[in-house]
Amino acid sequence: MVTPLDEYERTLAFAEIALGQIKSLRQTAIPRNYEIWYVYATGYNAALNKIINETLARAGKLTEGDLEQIYDTYLSQLKTSERIDKVGARVVGEIDDVLKVITDALGISASYGASLDGASEKLSSVQSREQLKAIVETLAKSTREMRDTNRSLEERLALSKTEISNLQHSLEAIRAESLTDPLTGLGNRKYFDRALEAAVATAQEDGEPLSLLLFDIDHFKSFNDSYGHLTGDQVLRLVGMSLKQTIKGRDITARYGGEEFAVVLPSTGLRQALTVADHIRRAVMSKELKKKSTGEILGRVTISVGVSMLKAGDDTDALIERADACLYAAKRNGRNRVVCEVDPEYTTEVQGSRSEVA
Ligand code: GH3
Ligand code: MG
Ligand code: MG
Repeated sequence: MVTPLDEYERTLAFAEIALGQIKSLRQTAIPRNYEIWYVYATGYNAALNKIINETLARAGKLTEGDLEQIYDTYLSQLKTSERIDKVGARVVGEIDDVLKVITDALGISASYGASLDGASEKLSSVQSREQLKAIVETLAKSTREMRDTNRSLEERLALSKTEISNLQHSLEAIRAESLTDPLTGLGNRKYFDRALEAAVATAQEDGEPLSLLLFDIDHFKSFNDSYGHLTGDQVLRLVGMSLKQTIKGRDITARYGGEEFAVVLPSTGLRQALTVADHIRRAVMSKELKKKSTGEILGRVTISVGVSMLKAGDDTDALIERADACLYAAKRNGRNRVVCEVDPEYTTEVQGSRSEVA
């Protein structure tokens, strides 16, 4: 658990790492560079750490251009659409530059062709050694020019290759970011909606089972009320981490809403899904929340889980609705439990709501 004192010490430690990096790499200590290294020290932005580590491994340093690009790509508060515009403009600029270089090279190659033609014509009527020497010299000169042009074209294209791969990274980062929940690093709702749609379509095509887990932290409001929203955020991160550690392979994890999470399990029937759900429930419950500064134990969080399985004729909404109703039944029946759609808790719940409607 994080208290104000922990927060003070933790943030100071990040600040010291950030300044240490700025000093050891001899960069200017401007806010932008500080922010880059501070975020690097926290480790919360995996994509930023990855690009920095890769660049340092490749070049041994970060240039002004690198820092500017890293900031623009991974930290700038510009809206995604503005960032796409910016990267788009750089793509267009790069294509323009390359086209210009290619056009120049084509022009030079055409005049080289013309000078070869001219030389062969002159050669047919050559009469003296001097004339021959002059023709050969002209040919040698235009060949040298052609070689130089080819060399600079190659260099320019190599630069362009690097720039295009940087642009690719930027676009990938924007795309990944638009589908990621920044707090937990899990997929966000948009990612979940797309991934579930695709997984359901595949399951229906292949005639494979598919299960969905929806879970929600129990009494989370009281955590926020007792220890503050920042502590609540740490708990969400912890739950996200437990989820990542438990779920592997093709399974899809996402933060579905505030303190709700979702897991899609392709090729998984209800019985297996229940086992996975219970693993997650136990993993979350096994984490003891402790104040770092005093060692004081603040307790544990538990989760309630609803599990549904894809039926013939289902769409994603129906599947989500049943998982949600199971989750609700788990809450009503005492929390810290897993309920699936064949459990009596769920069937009673559904019958109850039907008779209320009737
Ligand atoms: P229940 O066991 O019925 O789920 O009780 P609960 O208190 O968890 O449920 P409720 O829906 O009343 O409260 C959910 C709380 O989750 C409300 C809000 O304080 C908290 N919450 C939602 N999103 C976030 C977030 O991003 N950060 C933090 N710290 N808290 C959040
Ligand atoms: Mg909730
Ligand atoms: Mg809750």
